[in-house]
Amino acid sequence: MSTSVKDRLITVKNNISKKAHIVVKTEICDTRCPHQCTTYVCPAKCFEIIESKMRFQYEDCIECGTCLHACDQGAVSWTFPDSGHGVSFKLG
Ligand code: SF4
Ligand code: SF4
Repeated sequence: MSTSVKDRLITVKNNISKKAHIVVKTEICDTRCPHQCTTYVCPAKCFEIIESKMRFQYEDCIECGTCLHACDQGAVSWTFPDSGHGVSFKLG
């Protein structure tokens, strides 16, 4: 039996920091990105186009690192969350 990505993400625990560990220069997304690929590749749907504008929210991020590698426009700055914050994964 397969489980959807959305169902699997329910098992991720996240101690969300008030400080964003990913910063996105959304003006680049809105004005010169030809593909907006992060809206497709982020498994947690942190990147969304709403009324023709990029909306990014870090709170649901599972720290997979995909957006850092997928963005070829220099719009994504990525650090690890402050100590004691971020996600923990339940195995099994
Ligand atoms: S690929 Fe980079 S520039 Fe393009 S929409 Fe995603 S974050 Fe923005
Ligand atoms: S690190 Fe992964 S989950 Fe977090 S915003 Fe980037 S692609 Fe999405």
